Amino acid sequence: MLEIGQFSGVNTGAMDFAFSVIGKGTILEDAEIIYQSPPLMLYCNNCENEYLGDFEDLRCPVCMGTDFEIIHGREMVVKSIIGGSNGR
Ligand SMILES: [Zn+2]
Repeated sequence: MLEIGQFSGVNTGAMDFAFSVIGKGTILEDAEIIYQSPPLMLYCNNCENEYLGDFEDLRCPVCMGTDFEIIHGREMVVKSIIGGSNGR
């Protein structure tokens, strides 16, 4: 499973393509790739509030400030790659 942060800039379509090319003739050819986006956690520099980012409105829900930092959500983690016909 690939865990891809919503802000990591990773294009899952390009990733699928890359895997299909790299994986030709290997166990990866039949691999199932699961993408999962971790929640986007933001930190407000203004009122020091931590909150869950909403893509419709990234502002701090407490003070409506726009001065925030991303705590989580940029990471891209390979959770696991499920093998092909041979199982694991
Ligand atoms: Zn705030």
